[in-house]
Amino acid sequence: MADCIFCKIAAGEIPSTKVYEDETVLAFRDLDPQAPTHVLIIPKEHIASAADITPENSAVVAHIFEVAAKLSVELGLDKGFRIVNNCGEDGMQSVQHLHFHMLGGKKMGWPPY
Ligand code: C5P
Repeated sequence: MADCIFCKIAAGEIPSTKVYEDETVLAFRDLDPQAPTHVLIIPKEHIASAADITPENSAVVAHIFEVAAKLSVELGLDKGFRIVNNCGEDGMQSVQHLHFHMLGGKKMGWPPY
């Protein structure tokens, strides 16, 4: 999608530090890490947010969680991790392309505000 920064990252038009890539999914390091390990896992297909997941496009979400499990081993997150999706205005979503934050390498706080 034109003017979508994550579509441009997925297409290789904007550089990123990739940690995983296949035909449908890309994972790369967040530019402003909020934990010792902070990667974003995105579908290459443009889906605006979690509110736009449908029966037609939802398979990639299951695949993203498979990728997260694989990455948890590769990134050494053996003590656990957190996956976060911010959706919409109240969810404080700032990039309008579905993405899952994978955070680890420290003990997380709760609740998240
Ligand atoms: O959930 P939210 O939409 O706020 O998250 C967007 C994330 O994308 C932020 O953590 C931001 O640091 C990251 N980002 C990035 N590279 C960009 C633009 C945004 O890692 N070029």
